Amino acid sequence: MKPNTIGISWQKRSRKWLVRIWAYNKSWWVGLFADREEAQKIKKLVKEKLKLPHDEWLSWYNAYRESLPKSPKAFQDLTGQKFGRLTTLRWEKVGRRTYWHCKCDCGKEVRIIKEGLTRRPHVSCGCYQREKTALTVTGFITQDKNSRKWLVRVWAHKKTWRIGLFADMEEAQEIKRLAEEKLKLPHDEWLSWFNAFKESLPKSPKVFQDLTGQKFDRLTALRPKRTGRHTYWHCKCDCGKEIMVRQDMLKKKPQASCGCHQRAELARIARIRFGFIDGTCVSNIRSDKLRSDNISGIRGVSWYSRIQKWNAKITFKGKPYHLGIFADIQDAAQIRKKAEEKIFGPFLEWYENHKKQLDKPE
Ligand SMILES: [Zn+2]
Ligand SMILES: [Zn+2]
Repeated sequence: MKPNTIGISWQKRSRKWLVRIWAYNKSWWVGLFADREEAQKIKKLVKEKLKLPHDEWLSWYNAYRESLPKSPKAFQDLTGQKFGRLTTLRWEKVGRRTYWHCKCDCGKEVRIIKEGLTRRPHVSCGCYQREKTALTVTGFITQDKNSRKWLVRVWAHKKTWRIGLFADMEEAQEIKRLAEEKLKLPHDEWLSWFNAFKESLPKSPKVFQDLTGQKFDRLTALRPKRTGRHTYWHCKCDCGKEIMVRQDMLKKKPQASCGCHQRAELARIARIRFGFIDGTCVSNIRSDKLRSDNISGIRGVSWYSRIQKWNAKITFKGKPYHLGIFADIQDAAQIRKKAEEKIFGPFLEWYENHKKQLDKPE
């Protein structure tokens, strides 16, 4: 909006008329009105009031806002309240959403979306879920295709423990029961039992496969490295990076890479959704690094020596947006910050959610 413009727009979400003004370099939210005529009346009133000196305008605006009925969605201060294991410390707004920084009973601090606080009765930093899964022990027996023997595995502590191969089904069942019992011991006692038990089993003559020089999608195997039970391969990615990959993972993944494949995929989605040139835009947004010619110390705020004022702008999707010229550097910084929240907030939120899906280790 241009300086001192008053706008009425239809807000889909609330199905009401929204009246806003752009004045004094910021946007003022006047109110939502079910009736268009009422909105127009208010608009006329605001236009009159804007002719007043700034402080008189401010006090009218505040009084007017106070007089409006509070919407049920009004901000709730939950500071210090307890939800499950979490105690709320302070809130933060990202885009339209409200997040709460909370302290968990276990001592960890987490940020959680407001609606998440009441969604589960045992809400925690994740420690509740971890403790719960740690206690779940499931053993299973399957037939190994190669050896035609019974393979005993136990799932606990969020991973699968391969106990061993047994020719006799009854023996396998007994071992499974034993392992399930042992898993109820403290973790270190379980670990030492598990290692001792594995040692006691006769070693199977596993044939070493030489994959040197073989190509798995983007990765080329260079040299092997044995660690414990597993064979790892030093691999060179097409992009030039070298990484270590477990041999079975190398064969399992249809798109093996150092992670550049996922990064490329993420960049592709970002490009489609937000028109970015590459994935680096995200680190750019987050970075506090200043351009070498920046003298304001604030990103996006530069000094116009010709008119002796501060210029604020923001770049998004490769396009610069002019935010205004200010005599006071604080005003320029403030508008830049507001623009960042408005523009980058929803993008960063989306990016964080997708990163979790795409950054799974290979
Ligand atoms: Zn916790
Ligand atoms: Zn790569």
